[in-house]
Amino acid sequence: MALTGHSIIAGETVLGSDGSTRAVNPSTNGELEPAYSFVGAAEVEQAARAAEEAFAQYRDIDPERRAAFLDAAAERIEAVRGELVERAMQETGLPEARLVGETARTTGQLRMFASVIRQGDFHGVRIDPAQPERTSAPRVDLRQRKVPLGPVAVFGASNFPLAFSVAGGDTASALAAGCPVIVKAHNAHPGTSELVGRAVTEAAAATGMPAGVFSLLYGPGAEVGQALVRDPRITAVGFTGSRSGGLALVEAANARPVPIPVYAEMSSINPVFVLPGALAGDIETLAQGFLGSVTGSSGQLCTSPGLLLVPTGEAGDRLVEAIARVFAGSTGQTMLTPGIHRAWQAGVAALASRPEARKVAEGTAGAGENAPAPVVFETTAEAFSADEVFSREIFGAASLIVRYDDAARLPELASGMEGQLTATLHLADTDHEAVRALLPVLERLAGRILAGGWPTGVEVGHAVIHGGPFPATSNSATTSVGSLAIERFLRPVSYQSLPEALLPAPVRDDNAYALNRRIDGTMHMEGAAQSGAPAEGGAR
Ligand code: NAP
Repeated sequence: MALTGHSIIAGETVLGSDGSTRAVNPSTNGELEPAYSFVGAAEVEQAARAAEEAFAQYRDIDPERRAAFLDAAAERIEAVRGELVERAMQETGLPEARLVGETARTTGQLRMFASVIRQGDFHGVRIDPAQPERTSAPRVDLRQRKVPLGPVAVFGASNFPLAFSVAGGDTASALAAGCPVIVKAHNAHPGTSELVGRAVTEAAAATGMPAGVFSLLYGPGAEVGQALVRDPRITAVGFTGSRSGGLALVEAANARPVPIPVYAEMSSINPVFVLPGALAGDIETLAQGFLGSVTGSSGQLCTSPGLLLVPTGEAGDRLVEAIARVFAGSTGQTMLTPGIHRAWQAGVAALASRPEARKVAEGTAGAGENAPAPVVFETTAEAFSADEVFSREIFGAASLIVRYDDAARLPELASGMEGQLTATLHLADTDHEAVRALLPVLERLAGRILAGGWPTGVEVGHAVIHGGPFPATSNSATTSVGSLAIERFLRPVSYQSLPEALLPAPVRDDNAYALNRRIDGTMHMEGAAQSGAPAEGGAR
């Protein structure tokens, strides 16, 4: 399929006239064809108008039809999988296996949200029937359900060109909620974005969706992205990227005459706490696991462990030595963009400049451009607490070991940290007392707490939380992965004493969608019990 280099607005391809960009192959720094033309304010306005028009129909479309649209998008993405993976490899430098897995995760997410729509619990129906005979005072009839917010702006992430991009988790959950989506493509993978954008557009047409339900725009974030967030028809924003980018969007959203929520996933160093008891276990496996988690996808994962807390003393020294050995034998992999590589170099240089930082080991640079050697540093708990440089996210294959001398001090150390997506514990039975004291602190710190294993490898299911306190995200009350992500784009509405004929289907007495509903405080399980199996290919 020949790439056009055009944006897509409500089913039509649109040639922009505000400059252009070409993708860069990060392993060669060579430019790829075609040029992608940038749209301007007029096209942002056009896409927003189309989304608003589509919303009037799409918000209340029959659930089965909405689910069929998401299934069709998954099918069409699968139909171009070979081409998609090849282009994504050229644009991102990510290996084939990772991109094949990410394609499965993307289609799995779309199908999971189709199941969520069919199952119907997201409507959140609660009914308190009228009690005209109540003696204190007659009770009115109250019926509650959740409604979609309206058009949503989604910013594709550089590090997940599929699963967090054009038809990624933000888009799938917003479309499932009943919200049209306008995607601001990430300029690092424009061809991958176009292929997926066309698949979603074809799926919308084939399933009879209003054309404005989906648009894909190319342009600079500072102009097109900002214009999108400022547009009065946009009602929420999904974003994964840098702290500065996320904060700029939060600021823009709050400066609007009508502020809107921004669900930005930004920065996390994902501390891993090695408790003393864990050092009696298999240290080599621990070191290998750490290396794999730090260097997988060239370290460009939001859950990559940037911090490993290891006890002082002889057993801890043995773990650090094992880590030094495996890092020394490692090889760098291509990073996503020359700019992200430069940011990694600046982060490593800042850490290396600190006298309290000791370089434990460094691997070998990979072949080609932008494939720096993985590196690991070590410092003391005191230095870590005293200097914020040690807490900064270095996006890429680098990590910091912090040595602590007493597990009883871990709660204090953890409470000084910024909000995180994850906190991981490596522990033995003998560590339970120390962990019991640490857990309440970790619950305030992170969205997901793991015992054993490594934080990279996020399951896409119903119980997962991929979120956390600031700066991990701009809104810690929710998740950007898993079925609960749909809640970000819904709002509860209560109907008091409306005639049955005027009530929306989910709250009518006949329960035409066979929904599980809370009636007078008691759950009535009339609908399907499950929203489908968690999405396949959830790892990473
Ligand atoms: P980014 O610079 O935050 O860009 C992400 C998207 O937001 C791009 O489409 C960008 O458009 C747009 N954008 C950025 N600043 C904006 C602003 N002020 N107003 C409106 N839109 C804006 O992230 P990136 O390019 O993916 O990577 C840069 C750095 O972000 C990395 O080095 C890394 O530190 C961090 N990062 C973190 C994660 C994570 O999961 N924690 C993931 C990816 C990246 P333009 O490209 O046109 O500016």
